[in-house]
Amino acid sequence: MTSVWFDTALLSDGWAHSVRVSHDDGVVTAIETGVAIGPDEERGAIGVPGLGNLHSHAFQRGMAGLAERRGRESDDFWSWRRVMYQFVDRLNPEDVEAIAALAYAEMLESGFTRVGEFHYLHHDRDGAPYADPAELAARIAAAAAATGMGLTLLPVFYAHSGFGGAEPRPEQRRFVNTTDAYAALVEASRGAVKDLADGVVGVAPHSLRAATPEELALITPLAAGGPVHIHIAEQAREVDDCVAWSGRRPVEWLLDHAEVDACWCLVHATHLTEAEIDRLARGSAVVGLCPITEANLGDGLFPAARFVGAGGRFGVGSDSNVLIDAAEELRLLEYGQRLSRRARNVLASGQRPSVGGTLFCAALAGGAQALGVGKGGIRVGAAADLVSLDAGCAAFLGRDGDALLDGWLFAARGGAVDGVWRRGRKVVAEGRHVRKVELVQAFARTLDRVLRA
Ligand code: ZN
Repeated sequence: MTSVWFDTALLSDGWAHSVRVSHDDGVVTAIETGVAIGPDEERGAIGVPGLGNLHSHAFQRGMAGLAERRGRESDDFWSWRRVMYQFVDRLNPEDVEAIAALAYAEMLESGFTRVGEFHYLHHDRDGAPYADPAELAARIAAAAAATGMGLTLLPVFYAHSGFGGAEPRPEQRRFVNTTDAYAALVEASRGAVKDLADGVVGVAPHSLRAATPEELALITPLAAGGPVHIHIAEQAREVDDCVAWSGRRPVEWLLDHAEVDACWCLVHATHLTEAEIDRLARGSAVVGLCPITEANLGDGLFPAARFVGAGGRFGVGSDSNVLIDAAEELRLLEYGQRLSRRARNVLASGQRPSVGGTLFCAALAGGAQALGVGKGGIRVGAAADLVSLDAGCAAFLGRDGDALLDGWLFAARGGAVDGVWRRGRKVVAEGRHVRKVELVQAFARTLDRVLRA
């Protein structure tokens, strides 16, 4: 049994001072408050629980910043997707592992301790299946093992290029599966994560445009009680195409045709009518918001004020990984609302006036639910996923309680996180992942080859 001692820490029942978190075999076994630090005890200043990153496409970290040049036409999500398809065409399994490992190290450095990897790259460069259908899923698991990142692996079902079962396009050949091949992939993915201490496998129909209703009904039960994630209503054109196909908007269609329960995570859900917002908020599913990517891609603004006001559940994801920063995802979520509503402190609640406290705790609970690991937070029986903030950072000086979260989310630069323990093992020290140097070297070798190809 070992422990970490914090000057102050955010526990599942609120802030406390002089806190000892004891853990054994990666799991919190005891929490004491008002106790003095022991000799040789590991120490953090401001302790917060690790946050779940509920939506990532790790390989896209390798093309971060490469799609920021204006093309001849007006650029949008679809022109970004062409750049992404060109990049993905060049990746071999070693590249996928190297890029994912660096992305996961960066996530840990920003305070994310578990990732929902929405993994849609399955086949070889010519579209032929690998001998092991989980070849690339195993590379994702290896990246998680190398960095210590908690993994919820979400193998993606992708079969069509548009609503109504349209044939997939040649550039989608590395993603597509039949429902039978997909069932084998889910099974093989369970094998790929079996050596991780707390790996979780769910299922992920890519979107309503990539899976037909019949396919959706066949693959959803494969989750077997685990998470079910889907991209939905990210693009205005996607909404129009869905209406043309079914007479219904995507979220409306899904809520009408699937048992959308607490296992579900609806990623983006950007374009909603007021009726859809209220229906979604009344249910138990989590909405997966990715504010940095949604801004980068020009997707639109999620109606967070109404949704959160109606009690809706949400978490955040780094999605395209164009920039990996847990605090900035939450900051941008609030700032989008302020800019569009010309108001301040939009996403605080009556019970919790601190915007930072409200956003962090909501995203903590939503992220843990969506990733299939309970409620999240520092509590006995949960994984010892602990983050310490740098008490010397100006944004924390003279603050206590939720004001520390307000300082982190709104007033700190990157680097406010100085330590991270994943399952009790220190993986980030002095703000850097303990294997950062070698991970950057492997990433650099991959990029050097892939970008010259
Ligand atoms: Zn996505």
